[in-house]
Amino acid sequence: MRYKSYGQTGKQLSAIGFGGMRLPDPRNHDAGVALLHAARRAGITYFDTAPFYCDDQSEAIFGEALRSMPASSLPLYTSSKCSRPAASDFRRGLEKSLARLGLPQITFFHLWCVMDPADWKSRVAGGALREALKAKEEGLIGHVCVSTHMDGPAIAQLLAEHPEIEGVTLGYCAINFPYRRQGVEAARRLEKGVVAMNPLGGGLIPQHPDAFAFIRAPGDPDVVAAALRFLVSDPGITTALVGFSSEAHVAAAVGAMEDFTPHSLPRLEEIRAAIQKDFNEMCTGCGYCLPCPQGIPIPRFMDIHNLMQLKSSDDDIRARYKYHWDMTPAKAAECVECGLCESRCTQHLPIIARLRKLAAFQM
Ligand code: SF4
Ligand code: SF4
Repeated sequence: MRYKSYGQTGKQLSAIGFGGMRLPDPRNHDAGVALLHAARRAGITYFDTAPFYCDDQSEAIFGEALRSMPASSLPLYTSSKCSRPAASDFRRGLEKSLARLGLPQITFFHLWCVMDPADWKSRVAGGALREALKAKEEGLIGHVCVSTHMDGPAIAQLLAEHPEIEGVTLGYCAINFPYRRQGVEAARRLEKGVVAMNPLGGGLIPQHPDAFAFIRAPGDPDVVAAALRFLVSDPGITTALVGFSSEAHVAAAVGAMEDFTPHSLPRLEEIRAAIQKDFNEMCTGCGYCLPCPQGIPIPRFMDIHNLMQLKSSDDDIRARYKYHWDMTPAKAAECVECGLCESRCTQHLPIIARLRKLAAFQM
């Protein structure tokens, strides 16, 4: 396993983190506990959970696993989250997470799921940020962090304006890296930790190895290893957070870190350029199509269209609309077909036709 520094915290995190959102069976706590223990034995030091994951069982399963973790000379870091903007609600959420995990302190606690700058303002105005900093002073939180679905420039601005935020968790993978790359670069400049969630594109990359064969660099044994190595070679990324549901997944992710020399910066640039060139008919999330005069978040809709192209299930597409992007198909119907976006699109995608299809999707 490789270990990387999380910003200025002095903590070394495993380059692969344990994401607790896809545990094998929410009703079978023993299976989840065994999986967490296997990850610990494999050298993973960063364990991320949240309320509501796995039918709201993830934190409880983590709590059971933490109480019986195998002995190790390695440190162990925990992460959880709260999305409530009001100070009192945030505090209640934190206390509930502490109780379920059975811990006196959560190492990394996130203001969770910040969707856009207005949402972030509500966390500041509502008192959640102030409450998090107070909890840190009390020792209940080790480090105050943000988890977000914002684009790169908005993340960069948030980090620049809030030096008290010590790190950020964001969706980042070989499919969508252009969309948030500015945020990752800003975090690196400001010496913040960065945890990349969804490093395997929400399972799309392993489910479609042929479609994503182009992300493999020479020496990568498969697309999963390629996607993880691509991320952990990035000096801006501390940890790639993988949602594990079996010990085989743990072994594959940990194995990808063995016998591997991180790509050099010029090589990483070459891989990035090759990925973008070979993206064919898919949106890379670069954002050059914006702004839209109708305020349509085009890259987000095109990200959902990527799922449709890969023949994802309707349930997965609904989840992407609802939970990932907090959008409905109705917004796509506001397109007035002015054509501005298509004239700017780096991939020359038929955005207007795709928006029509997305607008017709049944939630
Ligand atoms: S064609 Fe539609 S989506 Fe594109 S810029 Fe015009 S209104 Fe926006
Ligand atoms: S639609 Fe085109 S320009 Fe817009 S984010 Fe996707 S690839 Fe980039």
